[in-house]
Amino acid sequence: SKVPPIILNNGVEMPQLGFGVWQVPDDEAERAVATALEAGYRSIDTAAIYDNEEGVGKAVAASDVPREDLFITTKLWNSDQGYDSALRAFDVSLEKLGLEYVDLYLIHWPLPSRGKFVETYKAMEKIHADGRAKAIGVSNFLTEHLETLIGATSVIPAVNQIELHPQLQQHASREYHAEQGIRTEAWSPLGQGKGLLEIPAIIAIAQKHNRTPAQIVLRWHIQHGNVVIPKSVTPSRIRENIQVFDFSLDAEDMAAIGALNEDRRIGPDPATFDIG
Ligand code: NAD
Repeated sequence: SKVPPIILNNGVEMPQLGFGVWQVPDDEAERAVATALEAGYRSIDTAAIYDNEEGVGKAVAASDVPREDLFITTKLWNSDQGYDSALRAFDVSLEKLGLEYVDLYLIHWPLPSRGKFVETYKAMEKIHADGRAKAIGVSNFLTEHLETLIGATSVIPAVNQIELHPQLQQHASREYHAEQGIRTEAWSPLGQGKGLLEIPAIIAIAQKHNRTPAQIVLRWHIQHGNVVIPKSVTPSRIRENIQVFDFSLDAEDMAAIGALNEDRRIGPDPATFDIG
């Protein structure tokens, strides 16, 4: 299965679908990433706080996929915000991953009350200038945080990775990202697999296309231009989640899923989230 790339604002290609490894323990991450690479995934989304960068790195090292064909994302954890600490945290992540560079480095949360994301991002600009991150960006940034960041730094973030699924469609953020040339990346694209995949409208569309509800939801994201990073540790689901480039939803399907928006978060509110 082959995932088509999207082009980031700096010309770097990123697979539109990747593999997320949140809540996957280090040893299991190694197995899951190996399965994902065999299934055709080339993009992996980890983070320092997931505590599995070593497992991801081992799977990458053991695989015969050439490094230049892979797209590895990791994220800077909250306690490492600040210029010098960000530089140090990046070195630690790179070391754990066993890589010479990452493809994308993100600030995990804005922590607006700490007032450090601008200096943190300036460290990431340095990392980018040194060629050790092919692209840099942010995660969980609200529009107001992006405005502050863009006003104070030189590299427009390539990506903002935010919670996004049919029950939280993020129309305003997506519009602002599009105006600024920032790619929207959806975390928890399947709504963490809970109630979303049991909604009758989604099941009906799945039956119509002879696909699974997860494939329908992922296909909906793809047709909206979102980057998606679904997570599973079950080999059959890992394979299922990448089989979404050989069918399309029609306008009626897209509208039916569009009607499911409730502006309801599963995860924390970035305006107030302040741990770590
Ligand atoms: P997800 O929406 O990808 O859902 C994953 C869950 O859905 C699985 O644990 C499983 O229970 C179920 N599932 C997966 N495939 C399925 C299938 N084919 N059929 C039925 N059920 C299926 O949720 P997620 O793991 O929260 O998000 C994906 C990735 O996004 C994470 O692994 C992580 O990389 C990233 N993420 C980032 C942040 C952030 O703050 N930047 C936060 C959360 C997640």
